[in-house]
Amino acid sequence: MGSTERIRNVAKRVAKWVRAGHQLVVVPSAMSGETNRLLGLAKELSPDKPSAQSFRELDQIAATGEQVSVGLLSLALMAEGLEAVSYAGWQVPIRTDSSFTKARIQAIDDVRVRADLAAGKVVVITGFQGVDEQGNITTLGRGGSDTSAVAVAAAMKADECLIYTDVDGVYTTDPRIVPEARRLQTVSFEEMLEMASLGSKVLQIRSVEFAGKYRVPLRVLSSFTPWDIDLAEEASSGTLITFEEDEKMEQAVVSGIAFTRDEAKITVVGVPDRPGIAYQILGAIAEANIDVDVIVQNVSHGGRTDFSFTVNRNDYARALDILKGGVGPATGAAEVTGDPRICKVSIVGIGMRSHVGVAAKMFRTLSEEGINIQMVTTSEIKTSVVIDEKYMELAVRALHKAFDLEQAPAA
Ligand code: ASP
Ligand code: MG
Repeated sequence: MGSTERIRNVAKRVAKWVRAGHQLVVVPSAMSGETNRLLGLAKELSPDKPSAQSFRELDQIAATGEQVSVGLLSLALMAEGLEAVSYAGWQVPIRTDSSFTKARIQAIDDVRVRADLAAGKVVVITGFQGVDEQGNITTLGRGGSDTSAVAVAAAMKADECLIYTDVDGVYTTDPRIVPEARRLQTVSFEEMLEMASLGSKVLQIRSVEFAGKYRVPLRVLSSFTPWDIDLAEEASSGTLITFEEDEKMEQAVVSGIAFTRDEAKITVVGVPDRPGIAYQILGAIAEANIDVDVIVQNVSHGGRTDFSFTVNRNDYARALDILKGGVGPATGAAEVTGDPRICKVSIVGIGMRSHVGVAAKMFRTLSEEGINIQMVTTSEIKTSVVIDEKYMELAVRALHKAFDLEQAPAA
């Protein structure tokens, strides 16, 4: 919601659903740019290394954006002739743990909301925020309104949770790289989780986990369609994230190509091939709170091997320092090297469970483009490769074509 004009449009859209006989709980996020503005103010007054206590204050500040939104939206709904009431997270309450700036929802009390709905009101609840056991205001992390909406939908046992956003659905890959990318009608939760964690930033990943766990059908659709489009058309637009057994599911082997640019590779060269080495290396990395993604250990030669793994590019320098500093030499490694110019490209699809040769086809496609694969990792429904970042777009395009993703699968 970028302006009062946009808020009025949201209200008109909500009114359309209400008049068609639906009960609605609306969970808005802050007005566009507002959370950034608030956190920017906070930053001006914070030291470079903020204390743990300051995170509580950040939440206190950031949560105000949503409080303004719910009040404004309720007013706009009233102006449309609806009855509406707004609540902040603590008023519902939406209970969370106390991990400020990345709190997790623990429980939602639905009593008040149900009573309001029964009385014919539209209930408007702040996204992004909650309250901990001590009554502190918490926030759920950037993009957390998605998770708030799904959690409220789960608590209310809603028929569907509609996420209106600035894209009109989930695509087979990023259309900025592959113009022929196709919007998926449906995608399974598992695929969506892989795609979200692999860098397609349509939804906060926690919201997808939540929806899968509590079996909330989730639809991602555009907030830019005119508010007065036909309701049935709106209700079937976008992408439905649903369960594998749903008969509406598309039946493709590969559903999408995901990628992340922001990775970096570190190799500990010539470590002794004996128990405890992986732990020595990765234990030190974990201790520094650095997430490790792909891990590869090579076959040993003469009792020595190379051990490689990837980290987020932001953590690259720190991870390299740790290993070059003491840990590397302590393992007996000959050398520690790194490459911050790599990326990860993945094919994702639940059909990979029941089809052989999918990874082979991926490797063949990449080899035909002369792209060297540096690392490989797989799960039941995905195969990822680490390659030089300069080939990323080429790889994504070639794979999109090889797996015929521009065409809808035959029913
Ligand atoms: N307003 C919050 C943010 O900008 C939450 C959200 O938009 O989902 O991150
Ligand atoms: Mg968002």
